[in-house]
Amino acid sequence: MGVALLFLGCSAGGFFHMVRQPLGERLCFYEGGAGNAVSVAHGRELLLVDTKMWGYAGQLQRAVEAPPDGTLHQVKRILLTHAHADHAGGVDRFTHAGAVLLHTQALKRLRESGKASAVPYVEVTDAVSLRLDGEEVRIFHPGVAHTDGDLVALLPARGVLVAGDVLCAGLEPSADVTFGGQLRPLRRALERLLEEKFDTVLGGHGPATTRAEVEAKRDYLAALERAAVDARAKGLAGEAAERYALAALKEFAPYEPIPLRASRESNARQMLLELTQEQAP
Ligand SMILES: [Zn+2]
Repeated sequence: MGVALLFLGCSAGGFFHMVRQPLGERLCFYEGGAGNAVSVAHGRELLLVDTKMWGYAGQLQRAVEAPPDGTLHQVKRILLTHAHADHAGGVDRFTHAGAVLLHTQALKRLRESGKASAVPYVEVTDAVSLRLDGEEVRIFHPGVAHTDGDLVALLPARGVLVAGDVLCAGLEPSADVTFGGQLRPLRRALERLLEEKFDTVLGGHGPATTRAEVEAKRDYLAALERAAVDARAKGLAGEAAERYALAALKEFAPYEPIPLRASRESNARQMLLELTQEQAP
């Protein structure tokens, strides 16, 4: 169960099959086959966002460095959106990369779990901007969200946000408490993302989606928090509090649960728990 939780933790449909999707000039989305990945080419070099895991990492390497058009590329920089294995586990495939950017907390969690690799990690605590062939890529930490070490990448000229698991298209919002994630900060992180201009979101799982899904999930988490606060004010506890909180989410799209990680019920329980923990002495 522990291994299954680690490897399937932040994934659902599409986990076992990778699809390469060019999204305009020099940008490519590798959906499915563990966590999603994204490449941005500049000349013959590439920025790669996330590395997948297992055999999918090798599939990804072949797809990004030797694409069907026959031009050979080399991954120069990697951004790891967070420390979960289905995103960070394939980094050993890319030991030739010059820099592997990740949040300080993500590196700490990789080291704690013995998963850190012999690659040139570069820690980011807040934000960093890259300029690749004249194109700006803004990388920043949106605050505690899916984990306490998430980074996202904004491609302002394209209106594209690469969000990692802070936003997984069509899936229940997910905050992994074992990696420092929390639901109320996740809502604030979504607010933070919405301060930026973008139309397209490439999340950590699921297909490309739009800004509207970020707004909908922000609203979902806000409604859940309000209902959880109300439930407590009414003196409800346990399953009664959970049912009350869940009723507030009926108007929201039926997102797919994430096996062993997040469902509407588990999110209601977690939100109630976060409120309880906040009020504990
Ligand atoms: Zn994850």
